Amino acid sequence: MKAVIYNGKSVEYREDFPKPEWRAGYSLIRILRAAVCSTDKEVRKGYRPHFSGVMGHEFIGVVEQSCRKELIGKTVVGELNEGCGHCLYCKTGREKHCPERKVIGMEGRNGCFAEYMLLADRLVHPVPDGLPIETAIYTEPLAAALEIPAQVHINPEKNVAVIGDGRLAYMIAQVLSLNGCDLTIIGKHMEKLTQFQTCGKIQLLESIQKYPPVDETYEIVVDATGSPEGIELANRLVRRRGTVVLKSTYAQKAALDMSQFVVNEITIVGSRCGPFEPALNLLSRGLVKLPEIEWHSLDAYEQAFSSRAFKAGFRIS
Ligand SMILES: [Zn+2]
Ligand SMILES: [Zn+2]
Repeated sequence: MKAVIYNGKSVEYREDFPKPEWRAGYSLIRILRAAVCSTDKEVRKGYRPHFSGVMGHEFIGVVEQSCRKELIGKTVVGELNEGCGHCLYCKTGREKHCPERKVIGMEGRNGCFAEYMLLADRLVHPVPDGLPIETAIYTEPLAAALEIPAQVHINPEKNVAVIGDGRLAYMIAQVLSLNGCDLTIIGKHMEKLTQFQTCGKIQLLESIQKYPPVDETYEIVVDATGSPEGIELANRLVRRRGTVVLKSTYAQKAALDMSQFVVNEITIVGSRCGPFEPALNLLSRGLVKLPEIEWHSLDAYEQAFSSRAFKAGFRIS
C-alpha cells in the first residue's frame, strides 16, 4: 500500500509498504483523510529517534474489520495512545500515561499516513451522523485543547493568555473562548492573529518585547508556541500564584531560571492529549470554527509538510 514513513533518519514515500493484517482486538481502518500536525514535523526532526514506521496520528477513516461489529462500515476517528492494559496507569484511567504505551505514528505503532491502519478497538470513536469528514478530522487537535479545561479550573471571571498563533493555539483559543473568560492571544504574525479576533483580544509579541508588561499579566498563561521560548515568556506574563499550562512539545531543550517559578509560586501544568467525545460534541454542534484544510496526495508529502496553509493533509481515498 501507499505510505509516508519515517525510517529513523528521514521521511520517505513508499508504494510497497505492507498492508496491515487484521487481528482480534484491533480495527482495520481504511484511511480517508489524514492531517499533518506539528508533532509530525518534530518526529521528522528527531523528536522520536527510536521510531520508524508509518507517520501520522490525525485521521478519519472507515472501519473494514473489527470485533466491535457495530463499527464495521462506520466513519471513525481514533485516539493515539494504546496502553498495555495492566499497569497502574492503565488500571486507573490513565492509559495515555502507560509507560509501555504504543502511539500511532510515534512509538511502536504504524500511523495513518497510509491507505490502511490498525487501531485498538477501544480507541476508535464513530463520527456522529452529519458531521463532514473535513470537520471531523479536527477531533484529535481539538481534544488536545479540551485537555486544558479537563485539568485546570478556568474561572470565567479571570484573565487568560494563550501564547502562539499556530494551529494548536487556534484550537485552544476556540475552546477557552467558550468559557467566557477575558482571553488574549499573543503571537508573532499579525496575519495569523487576525484569525483569532472572534475568540478574544489579540496582541503582537513584538509589542510585549518592546514594553515589558507591568500590569499586563494573566492568571493563567497557556504556552502553545511549539518552541522553548514559550515557557520563558509565559513566566514573564503569569501572575504570582498563577498557572502556566504547557502544551508545546519540541525536540530542543528549554533553558530557564526555575527559581522564578518557586519564588512566585507558579503552578506548572503539562498538558497533552485530550478527550475525544467532548471534541466530537463541540464539532457536531458547530460550536467551533475551523479553517479548511489544504489536501495533497501521499506522494506529495513534501508539499504537505512544508505547506503554509493553516493546516495541510492527505486525501487518501
Ligand atoms: Zn496532532
Ligand atoms: Zn499500561
